[in-house]
Amino acid sequence: MLREETVFGPIFSRRLGSSLGINLLPQKGKICNFDCVYCECGWNADGLGDTKLPSARDVQEALEAKLQQCAAQGTPIDSITFSGDGEPTLNPEFPQIIEITLSLRDRYYPAAQVSVLSNATRCGMPGIFEALCKVDNPILKLDAPTDWEVALVNRPSGEYHVASVVRDLKRFQGQFVLQTMFLRGPSWESGQWVEAWMDIVREVKPREVMVYTIDRETPMRGLRKYTAEEMRTLVQPLLNEGFHIQIKG
Ligand code: SF4
Repeated sequence: MLREETVFGPIFSRRLGSSLGINLLPQKGKICNFDCVYCECGWNADGLGDTKLPSARDVQEALEAKLQQCAAQGTPIDSITFSGDGEPTLNPEFPQIIEITLSLRDRYYPAAQVSVLSNATRCGMPGIFEALCKVDNPILKLDAPTDWEVALVNRPSGEYHVASVVRDLKRFQGQFVLQTMFLRGPSWESGQWVEAWMDIVREVKPREVMVYTIDRETPMRGLRKYTAEEMRTLVQPLLNEGFHIQIKG
């Protein structure tokens, strides 16, 4: 499932309301430094080879045109979410694009929330960290508590160390949302990963946790999901400790 427009929507969801999406990746392909077994965009290797990234100017023009159109038609916009075909922070103009988006949001829909869905691999980098701190909801992924489990689920293309990501997440001082995909697998069945993952949540202290599971076709066949009730049981210790957790089954 690839988004073919830089700015798409608005689409309505119960969680986000009327939401515009921004895709900072190519219009006919996926670019990501992960290759998750569950990625809705498919495997990196199956991409169409399009590598043209939208520039800050492209995003500005497309977003302003869409916001003007929505405002003229009286269409509400509750949120603007960076959620494209890959990792948005790989766009070299990401910090500038965040500035432009916040400025356009303030001009046309000042109450709309700006969110960024990121795999957190680059969230500690200068420029990217500051940009993520400016948006309302930096939603940062950590799917597993150990490097070898991340290698199985997220298949990073470069070096990846959970310890580095944890260090970067702590710099947000709790002002971020941690997102974790719950999938069944060999190490998952034992439940040990949940204990280790919960220890990381306690350490990085996100203001909110989103746990979810697959709900569309995945590139890897045979993945098995949890029910919402099972996920609630798994995270119950954190709920008891007062963590705010959104569970999407
Ligand atoms: S991080 Fe997101 S875009 Fe990248 S492979 Fe994983 S699910 Fe797909």
